[in-house]
Amino acid sequence: MTPLDTNIRYIKGVGEARAKSLSKLGIETLRDLVMDFPRAYEDRRQLKSISQLIFGEKACVSATVASPAQTSRVRRGLDITKVNVVDDRSKMTITFFNQEYVKNALVPGKEYIFFGQVGGRIGSPTMTNPIFEPAESVSHSTRCIYPIYRLTAGISQNMMNKLARQGLDECGDQLPERLPENIRAAYSLAQTRFAYENIHFPKSFEDLELARRRLIFEELFVFSCAMEMLKGKRTEKSGFSINIPDLSEFRSVLPFSLTRAQDRAIADVMNDMSREKPMSRLIQGDVGSGKTMVAAAACWAVFKAGRQSAFMVPTEILANQHFEAIKKLLEPLGAKVALLTGSLGAKARRETLQAIRDGDVDIVVGTHALISDDVEFDDLALIVADEQHRFGVQQRAALSDKGTSPHVLVMSATPIPRTLALIVYGDLDVSIIDELPPGRQKVDTYLVGENMRQRIYNFIRRLVSEGRQAFIVCPAVEETEESPDGLKSVKEYAQRLSKDIFPDLQVALVHGKMKPKDKSEVMENFAAGKVDVLVATTVIEVGVDVPNAALMVVENADRFGLSQLHQLRGRVGRGKFKSYCVLFEGAGGNVSRERLAVLCKTNDGFKIAEEDLRLRGPGDFFGSRQSGLPDMRISSFASDMDVLVKAQEAAKKVMSEDPDLEDEINSPLRDSVQRLIEKNRGTLN
Ligand code: ADP
Ligand code: MG
Repeated sequence: MTPLDTNIRYIKGVGEARAKSLSKLGIETLRDLVMDFPRAYEDRRQLKSISQLIFGEKACVSATVASPAQTSRVRRGLDITKVNVVDDRSKMTITFFNQEYVKNALVPGKEYIFFGQVGGRIGSPTMTNPIFEPAESVSHSTRCIYPIYRLTAGISQNMMNKLARQGLDECGDQLPERLPENIRAAYSLAQTRFAYENIHFPKSFEDLELARRRLIFEELFVFSCAMEMLKGKRTEKSGFSINIPDLSEFRSVLPFSLTRAQDRAIADVMNDMSREKPMSRLIQGDVGSGKTMVAAAACWAVFKAGRQSAFMVPTEILANQHFEAIKKLLEPLGAKVALLTGSLGAKARRETLQAIRDGDVDIVVGTHALISDDVEFDDLALIVADEQHRFGVQQRAALSDKGTSPHVLVMSATPIPRTLALIVYGDLDVSIIDELPPGRQKVDTYLVGENMRQRIYNFIRRLVSEGRQAFIVCPAVEETEESPDGLKSVKEYAQRLSKDIFPDLQVALVHGKMKPKDKSEVMENFAAGKVDVLVATTVIEVGVDVPNAALMVVENADRFGLSQLHQLRGRVGRGKFKSYCVLFEGAGGNVSRERLAVLCKTNDGFKIAEEDLRLRGPGDFFGSRQSGLPDMRISSFASDMDVLVKAQEAAKKVMSEDPDLEDEINSPLRDSVQRLIEKNRGTLN
């Protein structure tokens, strides 16, 4: 038996060169090898006779070599080897390209199993480059469910197959049983050894399913245990409680009444903050669901308790907007609100920092500038991170460190399917705002091709003549190294719009490379109605609130994720005006057209997120690893959610009985949990 941590190059049949190739697949050790699960399977079990073969299908056929194979050289670098095979009734011709060695491998009179795609005509089938093995040998690549692995240069499917077999034989018996016996029994899960054997070399699809179910469960279970462990650590930290204030005062300054969902979220927050341990809560809600009000209520409660809040947002535009809104709302109640962004002048900055330090400011709204070293708080009790997917965990932590375990409230406008939230934010408490303020109109969404461009321009003109405003968003190409011309093309496009297409309208451009001050100026002009058409890169994606904007046009919509487009669409339809979203489909083709069509069908951010997740996977979904999603080997966030719920339930049970997994029987589990936490240090909260 070979230890699991043995470097792969010492495994029989590997060696230096192959070890190098394998490392490209992330396979460094024997453990990695046996944990490199097939990505697909091919059913090669059914053995047919030649006469049963159907054109176009892939099939196994048993046949005897009728005569010696003949090779002819067609030209340099291309030779063809032909061989006739027969069974008791029919004949078939097999052709191999550039595989002269088969001449010796196929012995006339001997029976072989061939697997390949059937070609030829009815009555005279053929195969080209089939896989074959002697009929009397053990089945490896024919007559079985054949595992298909990920490959890289220098590693063939057959080789991976052999290596997997070899790996299992070397270490199969020492694969640790990480699932406690009672959990395995309670959830009817297969044993480790069985699972590994059958995930690689299943005898039947039923066995494969049993193996998969167990391995998915195990993976999600270990993950959930890690989350529980981290959560346990968090609750140990000392926090401080604030008294839940009478909310009627807060309500009295609102120009509207809160939705029930907002009420619920606010109650959750108040409850958390009234306890001894620090709050760690996520507010999830679709665009426009009114998350800011929940944060404002939290800041207000902290102000009532005589302490400070910091409200961090990802862009200056948003910082300005939130600052104005919160100031307007809470200053009449006596709270001092300050703005801290990178574009503050030196003097203003100094004064603001001083006021924050002295405790003269109750609520600071700002960008990343909030976490710079010279920002000190007098008594920071709450941090709010809006649009949290834009921040890394470290950034949030850096802000947290400015207080002593302050309460933390994060807000996400990228709705995550409820089930997924469990895993992404496994150690956060979650409130969901699943209701929009009354009177919101559905934004009519259209997917159009280039041929509609003129009509869309006419439509923009018509809306503007009615007093509305429009956004035209271009993909944020300027951010990428590969296309330094991206920004240029956006600039040129904006210029063309303003000179040639809408010479009589006010067209302005805002993009990520502009100075913050210039950006704010353009946004203010737009908000004030001085700009009719705002050409923008995705800097406007988050949060911007201009109720008079009634049209969102997105160029090359195929370059965006669905959730991102949904965010963009959320920039319109915020006032009383009927609003529209037009997506130019770009060059993405049918697949992306189908994807984009989801947006035309629904305005429900959760549904869209789910679809996005299904179609693009979680990596793209979040845009970066920042979200704290660890790599999963076998589980799919999109489709294994029912298992996740069970795995979490099981993890809670195990962890409540043995919070640090100190019990001897839990030691394989503890190892895995620790390995996972170690590997994801800095990304898991
Ligand atoms: P988001 O959840 O996308 O951050 P906001 O907090 O920006 O949404 O709210 C969107 C708009 O809805 C804002 O103009 C806000 O003033 C308004 N709003 C929030 N709550 C309510 C409510 N209960 N009734 C009516 N309008 C509301
Ligand atoms: Mg918001």
